[in-house]
Amino acid sequence: MSRPAVFLDRDGTLVEEAGYLDRLERLVFFPYSVDAVRLLNRANLVVVIVTNQAGIARGIFKEEFVSEAHQHIRARLAAGGARVDGFYYCPHHPEAVIEAYRQSCDCRKPQPGLLKRAAAELDIALDRSFVVGDRWHDLEAGERVGARGVLVRTGYGKTEEAAPHARVVPSAIVDNLMEAVSWILRAS
Ligand SMILES: [Mg+2]
Ligand SMILES: [Zn+2]
Repeated sequence: MSRPAVFLDRDGTLVEEAGYLDRLERLVFFPYSVDAVRLLNRANLVVVIVTNQAGIARGIFKEEFVSEAHQHIRARLAAGGARVDGFYYCPHHPEAVIEAYRQSCDCRKPQPGLLKRAAAELDIALDRSFVVGDRWHDLEAGERVGARGVLVRTGYGKTEEAAPHARVVPSAIVDNLMEAVSWILRAS
């Protein structure tokens, strides 16, 4: 049977926002991130990272680096008994300097392509799922597939909170990922 998922934005939500994260030294976990993911695992929620990585399209780093960063995240979580069930990223940008990535794709958030792909591959019930992110476009991607959204105040979250989106209505606005997980565990 399909399970609900929690789609986590990466930069500014699971790890600190670092502009274009292009070196592993700049990949900094929030102190509660591993615990937060482990709580979701224990609640039998599918945990999926969904991240726009336009730095690939802009030629700032290569897809190999994104894979390396995700292996690093996997290992760090595993060391704390936590697990991500899938990593999905969009390498595209409409104004990419690298032609292969220059397109208006269906996977760059707020487009919901990555969520749909994860749902098909991991048997996820989107209408019972959640999105956690620090940008309105994270929540908008979720809204487009019927998932509830939680905005966190880390990363760009405070700035986003100060400039409400015209259409996107968050189910909750909380300080950080751990609070988002607490909220989700009560709501799901
Ligand atoms: Mg973010
Ligand atoms: Zn894309």
